[in-house]
Amino acid sequence: MGEIQHLLEQAAQLVAQSPCTFALTGAGVSTESGIPDYRSAGTGLWQQVDPMRISSASALHRDPAAFYRANLERWMSYRDVEPNPAHYALARLEELGYLAGLITQNVDSLHRRAGSRRVWEVHGHLRTCHCLRCAASYPMEEAARQFRGGINPPLCGRCGGVLRPDVVLFEDPMGRDYQGAVAAMGGCHLLLVVGSSLQVYPVAFLPELARQVIIINRDPTPWDDRAACVLRGNAGDILPRMVELLDRERGRASGGEV
Ligand SMILES: [Zn+2]
Repeated sequence: MGEIQHLLEQAAQLVAQSPCTFALTGAGVSTESGIPDYRSAGTGLWQQVDPMRISSASALHRDPAAFYRANLERWMSYRDVEPNPAHYALARLEELGYLAGLITQNVDSLHRRAGSRRVWEVHGHLRTCHCLRCAASYPMEEAARQFRGGINPPLCGRCGGVLRPDVVLFEDPMGRDYQGAVAAMGGCHLLLVVGSSLQVYPVAFLPELARQVIIINRDPTPWDDRAACVLRGNAGDILPRMVELLDRERGRASGGEV
């Protein structure tokens, strides 16, 4: 208890003093909502299936029906999960003015649903899909409706092309949000890395753009040695406590009892 409390206070102080802070989140933030992590030993999704076989751009092009059979219901199930205390704490940090923006590797939309506003989804999201031929955009529900009605792969109502979700698949180039995140991080003083093992490039390069880094993760990351502070544990436990400390700090700073 003593050491983690000390580290929490140290981290909260770094956040309070930083002129420009961003957060970078990975799968670890969403596991507490029930979404499987990709790389955890034993339970990580990619330990059970081969991503190159089921979720790559070439898999989609080679056999779109198999691609949808392998992925669609899992993706649609993300809609039934709820944001957890880590998502809400990050939204609260932004609301309090401590966070300039949030960069996420997650495609589950949970940060937006928790109230975060400036969000860069560098691996895309599952709210919409688009036609591979004419680029027309549709809600992801349209692909699911067709799939469940026996139309696989789901097709564009305009030209008959195959629909694909607006996520960054293995072998895809990074999207606009990644470029946006790199540009926005130009003035970044402090980066909170939350629930990311920092093993997937180019996202794992983003801490290089910050002057200081705080790591909040269950497992060690390649950045731990260079971080100003490392908090080992669940983001859903750690972040709300950090927000509480910052809230108190703000109350003191303004001299208010309110
Ligand atoms: Zn089309």
